[in-house]
Amino acid sequence: MIRIGQGYDVHRLVEGRRLRLCGVEVAHTLGLDGHSDADVAIHALCDALLGALALGDIGKHFPDTSSDYEGIDSRLLLGRCMELIRSRGYDIGNVDVTIIAQRPKLAPYIPQMREELARVMQTETDRISVKATTTERLGFEGRCEGISSMAVALLVKRQ
Ligand code: MG
Repeated sequence: MIRIGQGYDVHRLVEGRRLRLCGVEVAHTLGLDGHSDADVAIHALCDALLGALALGDIGKHFPDTSSDYEGIDSRLLLGRCMELIRSRGYDIGNVDVTIIAQRPKLAPYIPQMREELARVMQTETDRISVKATTTERLGFEGRCEGISSMAVALLVKRQ
């Protein structure tokens, strides 16, 4: 039995915040704003994982009105999503994450991002794809007002 889910998230770029994507610190003059560490790529991935099992979304499980999640490292949220999935008898088939950002150039960080997600998700790196694209300067990502991310996840029921 296989299940598929998709996720999408957006965060605003602001001054005075660190930029963390897929759990990796990225050098940039701006960072993403949010209640948590605003790791937009992990948030999209969490929503894909939860969506695959119709478990709602990240806002339901980790509400941004709760002080518990203020400034939280999104890798902890991803770890909890993995616990939920495994507790229901599923493992990762594969996931594919796309980060949409005009700047900075993310290509040098992609290998480390895949390794970090695989480590947190306790799965193999070859099951984890991370890609980055620009929007050719179009839209909010193109104007460097924010970064968005999309993710899909395929889950496989354990035998
Ligand atoms: Mg978010």
